[in-house]
Amino acid sequence: MRDITHFIDGAPVAGQSGRFGDVFNPNTGEVQARVALATEAELDKAVQSALRAQQTWALVNPQRRARVMFEFKRLVEARMDELAEILSSEHGKVIADSKGDIQRGLEVIEFACGIPHVLKGEYTEGAGPGIDVYSMRQPLGVCAGITPFNFPAMIPMWMFGIAIATGNSFILKPSEKDPTVPVRLAELMMEAGAPAGVLNVVHGDKVAVDAILDHADIKAVSFVGSSDIAHYVYSRGTAAGKRVQAMGGAKNHGIILPDADLEQATKDLIGAAYGSAGERCMALPVVVPVGRKTADELRERVLAEIDTLKVGLSTDPAAQYGPVVSEAHKKRVSDYIQMGADEGAELVVDGRGFSLQGYEKGYFIGPSLFDQVKPSMKTYQEEIFGPVLQIVRAESFEEALRLPSEHQYGNGVAIFTRNGRAAREFASRVNVGMVGINVPIPVPVAYHTFGGWKRSAFGDTNQHGMEGVKFYTKVKTITARWPEGAVEDSAFVIPTMK
Ligand code: NAD
Repeated sequence: MRDITHFIDGAPVAGQSGRFGDVFNPNTGEVQARVALATEAELDKAVQSALRAQQTWALVNPQRRARVMFEFKRLVEARMDELAEILSSEHGKVIADSKGDIQRGLEVIEFACGIPHVLKGEYTEGAGPGIDVYSMRQPLGVCAGITPFNFPAMIPMWMFGIAIATGNSFILKPSEKDPTVPVRLAELMMEAGAPAGVLNVVHGDKVAVDAILDHADIKAVSFVGSSDIAHYVYSRGTAAGKRVQAMGGAKNHGIILPDADLEQATKDLIGAAYGSAGERCMALPVVVPVGRKTADELRERVLAEIDTLKVGLSTDPAAQYGPVVSEAHKKRVSDYIQMGADEGAELVVDGRGFSLQGYEKGYFIGPSLFDQVKPSMKTYQEEIFGPVLQIVRAESFEEALRLPSEHQYGNGVAIFTRNGRAAREFASRVNVGMVGINVPIPVPVAYHTFGGWKRSAFGDTNQHGMEGVKFYTKVKTITARWPEGAVEDSAFVIPTMK
């Protein structure tokens, strides 16, 4: 049995707790490795290493830090095939999609390569008589990231790319379900020239997470995962005086107006609903056709597309999606399908019976489709996170706008239409953080920022782009003058610019 160890102070470190988590191959249902789960003391060891490393790393000039990012990008690109294979074998997403996961993370690294430019402060000459004001962005110290299973490469890179480039050291607590790629990334960061301790990986469960949240020397915590845990992490971390950004779950809607290009919209929708077995926080699991004619036609088109969908091994180049991540998750999704039927939605396609010959123990679920889903249903209100598409029929634009706006989650939403005016109004009024106009998965590019609203994100700072730089740095503002010699009287009134 392969053991997946922590990575602390530039070297693999075997777990001391005696506690391990099983890492499965979702294609076969077999345990392929076990991952050490850290204690508070092991986490502290990583923090001590990160504290030491950060002192000198912060003094390395930004251009040299950027060069480490350039080299890291080169190394990851050179190992793309190997990393994608590992990722796919632990997560279950197909190889091409695993490469997409890594590539989207690398795009944040590309942004981090430009860190000298974005770290330049502001300067005002002559803000008062002989007075200049300038600002600088300084790193926070040791920062930590807690990441979900569904993007084991991209989300860690969202976080550590910016944190390290801005002069912090970082402790990553990746998902215990697919922990190998995060360790490989940390090894490559060392190979790229980051000193030992600048990026540490500590595996674990709630014990390690709580240790991070309570540790006095960790100044900021970035979390991505489900909403209840995000809220918990946000509350406990901020109570301990830390900066916390905590991204949560999602239930993204795709609105189809009657004038949409239905052929294109259906193709977009199918990829966004079923890609990665629906295990994306920017998946489109809800479609809202406006008007009966649109709904009926869309349903027919979706059914025809489902017929041609190929579910298969994550290593099969012809497969469009692979298994879900775990046995427990397969059961959870299956239970939601049953609940939807019990709640009175029309189960048009039931993917629960799907099985792949020779891989009967794999965690496969066929594409499932519900029609006549109502906002009062629990299966509509909650995140299913599987290959399940729900049709919620709306009578009007206003009703379609209300659905995502009033939903507890507000991560992403997409509208499909040929009417620019309607799209513009929708984008302006919808109560959701990321909007796609004829774009099914509107994940913003790396130099913009990623973040949802409502229960999809706690805290006010988004991931990556300038918001990421803001999250991992603190601003210092200096007001300076150089008096000419004559002594001035004490001032007892606050100076103003009046
Ligand atoms: P999860 O909440 O189960 O786990 C996320 C992290 O929290 C993991 O590192 C896990 O070890 C840790 N954790 C789990 N239980 C914990 C507990 N009780 N106390 C403390 N820490 C705990 O999420 P997941 O299943 O790995 O990922 C899927 C979820 O993540 C979905 O809800 C999805 O929508 C969400 N997600 C959100 C975004 C976003 O940007 N909004 C992006 C990707 C995934």
